[in-house]
Amino acid sequence: MLENTGRTELSSLGEFGLIKHLTQFIEVKNESTVKGVGDDAAVINYKNKQMVVSTDMLVEGVHFDLMYVPLKHLGYKAVSVNVSDIFAMNAIPRQITVSIAVSNRFSVEAVEELYAGMITACNKYKVDIVGGDTTTSKSGLVISITAIGEADAEELIYRDGAKEGDLLCVTGDLGAAYVGLQLLEREKKIFLETPGVQPDLDGHDYILQRQLKPEARKDIPVLLKKLEVKPTSMIDVSDGLASEILHISTQSELGCSLYEEKIPIDPSAYNMAREFNLDPTVCALSGGEDYELLFTIDPADYPKIKANPDITVIGHMTNKKEGVNLITKGGTTHPITAQGWDSLLNK
Ligand code: ADP
Ligand code: MG
Repeated sequence: MLENTGRTELSSLGEFGLIKHLTQFIEVKNESTVKGVGDDAAVINYKNKQMVVSTDMLVEGVHFDLMYVPLKHLGYKAVSVNVSDIFAMNAIPRQITVSIAVSNRFSVEAVEELYAGMITACNKYKVDIVGGDTTTSKSGLVISITAIGEADAEELIYRDGAKEGDLLCVTGDLGAAYVGLQLLEREKKIFLETPGVQPDLDGHDYILQRQLKPEARKDIPVLLKKLEVKPTSMIDVSDGLASEILHISTQSELGCSLYEEKIPIDPSAYNMAREFNLDPTVCALSGGEDYELLFTIDPADYPKIKANPDITVIGHMTNKKEGVNLITKGGTTHPITAQGWDSLLNK
């Protein structure tokens, strides 16, 4: 067919041809990667270190919409969200495996784009793609990535280590990825209703980048080490601040007081949330996909972090019987639920 010029069908390569094609430019960067792509299994040698493993799956129509997500960004994001879990353990990611299910709706060029994004991210995070699986999907695209990392046993940070009186800290800012998603959804709706109208995304770089091409906080484990601070607990913000605070509180068997006025929100995200008639605090609490790190520290460590512009103290851990609460800007106290906080649900 003439209109298919420039499109190479997946069937022309076959499964093995596609794997070879996609993995041809992979270069091993880590000493711990003994054997990468090409055998029945990869071989990894961490000597006397602990191995840290985490998997995430992204499903078309559930986690991403190819109407507005460029495949290159999707590949980048798929790697970022996986290595983010490794950083959240205070470990260093070294390898990933990549499994994809693709339908013949995709061309070889499309899958190449996806891989180009993944390889860019792998170079950024210095991780090796050491294997994966390639299979056919009848409909949507599915990407499953497993990230593998290393740490010394005493460096690992779990969700259950927070102590009463610890300060609750977060890196970067929150809510922007969710606001970015709202903008993309709005423009998609306009486009579908009035085809031909070009999306109006100008001047919204930050919130769009936070949604489409999130960065995992590779710098934070390094920074904490430099500051000589070892958090007592840590988690990455994938589902929203509220749900992550609940995870730390529940697993550490504590309560928590979070101060609304302290939650870091970028002005561009704040203003855009307002334009959508959304409460910026709710975007931070329930939006998710920020991939920042949330952690608790001993109050004695406060002087070491207080001057750092990348870390904000947003609350403190309390006794379990005090519950997990948001103290609003107006000074009222609301129990935090995974959806945000109670008053929201009762509106
Ligand atoms: P097997 O039949 O043993 O599962 P495959 O033919 O599926 O082997 O894979 C051959 C090699 O290519 C293996 O090393 C596998 O890990 C790797 N591989 C397969 N698919 C991918 C992919 N999408 N990305 C990276 N490596 C892959
Ligand atoms: Mg296989």
